[in-house]
Amino acid sequence: MSGHLLPGTTLRQRTADAVADERLRSNVARAVDRFAGHRLTGLAELDDADELRRAARAAKQQVLADLPALLERFADRVLDLGGHVCWAPTAADARRYVVQVVEAAGATRVAKSKSMATEEIDLNPALAAAGAEVVETDLGEWIIQLAGETPSHIIAPALHKDRHQIKDLFVDTVAAPPSLDTEPTELVRFARERLREVFLAAEVGITGANIAVADTGSIVLVTNEGNGRLVTALPRVHVVVLGMERLAADWRQADLLLALLARSATGQRLSSYTSVVTGPRGQGEVDGPDELHVVVLDNGRSDLLAGEHHEMLGCIRCGACLNVCPVYRQTGGHAYGWVYPGPMGAVLTPLLAADQPEAAEVAGASTLCGACMDACPVQIPLQDLLLSLRRAKAADAGGAERAAWRAWSAAWSDPRRYAATTRAATWGRWAADLAGHLPVGRDWATGRTMPRPAGERFRDRWRAGL
Ligand code: SF4
Repeated sequence: MSGHLLPGTTLRQRTADAVADERLRSNVARAVDRFAGHRLTGLAELDDADELRRAARAAKQQVLADLPALLERFADRVLDLGGHVCWAPTAADARRYVVQVVEAAGATRVAKSKSMATEEIDLNPALAAAGAEVVETDLGEWIIQLAGETPSHIIAPALHKDRHQIKDLFVDTVAAPPSLDTEPTELVRFARERLREVFLAAEVGITGANIAVADTGSIVLVTNEGNGRLVTALPRVHVVVLGMERLAADWRQADLLLALLARSATGQRLSSYTSVVTGPRGQGEVDGPDELHVVVLDNGRSDLLAGEHHEMLGCIRCGACLNVCPVYRQTGGHAYGWVYPGPMGAVLTPLLAADQPEAAEVAGASTLCGACMDACPVQIPLQDLLLSLRRAKAADAGGAERAAWRAWSAAWSDPRRYAATTRAATWGRWAADLAGHLPVGRDWATGRTMPRPAGERFRDRWRAGL
C-alpha cells in the first residue's frame, strides 16, 4: 500500500535517538519557532483570520463531499487539454505508470520538484531501478537526497540540519570546495549553479500538486525557489503525482486556500512563486511540456474518505501543526518513521500506512495539548482524530494490556470497589515504584516518573473536614 516505516527501528528508539541529539533539537526548535512566529504575523494582517479559516474548512468539506464528481470533472478537463490521466489505486500502480512514462520518453535524467506524494509512493528508488537518474531540485530536498535521508518536515525537508552541516555535506558529496562559505547565500549560490545543469538536461519533470482546480483542469504549484516553474516548463514531459484529495472545485476555492497556505506555512502573503499549469504546451506557447501526465493517487484515501477520520483529507500540507507541536519540536520528523511527521503525520500514518505493523503507535506521539488544532488553517480536529485512533488501538490491544484495562474498568465502575482500591493504593504506595517494572507498566514508565498515590485519600480528608 505505501512506503515503509524506517526499517529495523521502533518509534521508541527513534524518539530516544532524536532527543539525545542536541544539535538536531536545537536546529529544529530554531526553525519551527521562526515559522510559527511568521505565521502569527502573517495571520495578524488579515481582518478576520478565523472567518477565513472557517470558510476554508467549509470549502474542503464541500470538496470531500463531492470528490468523485470533482475528480471526474478535473480528469475530463485534463483530457480535453490534451493531457493524460492515470487513476492509481495503489502506490505500486502509481510507480509503475510513472516508470512507464519515463521509459517511453527514453529519459535517463529526471528533475523533481518537492512532492510528499512521491515520497509516499517511494518513487525515486523505482525510477533509479529503471535506470533513470533522479535529482531533487528543491534545495531542502536536494540536501536530504545527498544525505540519503527522508524529509524531516513537510515544507522544509532539511530543517534539522544547520548551515555548517550542509556545507560539509556539499563538500563530501558533490565536490564543493572546502573553502565554501557557510553563509546561506553562498550555499544557495553553489546549489543553484549545480541544479541549473539538471533543469537544462532533464527529459522528464515530476511534481506534486498543491491544488488541482476541477473547473479548468489546472495544477497549482507553490514554491519559494522557482524550481517548480523550471521543472514544469523545460523538460519535454511533465508528470504530476496528485493526491486525490488535493482538489478545489473552482478558482474561488483555490484562491481561498492559497490565501491561507503560505501564511500558515511561512507567514508569507503568497509564496514567491505560485505556478499554474493548464495542459501541455499549446500552439504558439513558448514553453511547457509536449506531454502532461496526471497520476491521481488513491493509496488508501478512498477508505479514509469513507470512514470516521475523513476530515484528515482536508489537510493542505502547510506544516503549521508541526511548527507548534511540542513533541515535533523535540524530535524533528524522522522519529515519526514515515513520510508525514508531526500531528498531521500522527493521524495520517496509522490511516495510510495501516499495513505497517508499527503505524498505529504513531498516534501516541502527541501530548494532546491541542496546539495543532488551534494552528490548523482548515480547522481539522487533529486532537479528536488522534484520540479516536488511540481508542481504536486500545480496543485492538491484546494480552496483558487488555486485561489491565478490564480490571481497572471493573474496579472503578462500582463505588465499593472504587473505595476499596483507592484505600489499597494508600497502603501500598510502594507498589507504584514496582509497577514500572511489570510488563504492563514498563513501556509507560520508561522516561517517566510513576506518581505515588497520596498517603491519605481525598474522601478521608473531606470526612475529617480537610
Ligand atoms: S493538519 Fe492542518 S496544520 Fe497540519 S499540515 Fe494539514 S492543514 Fe496544515
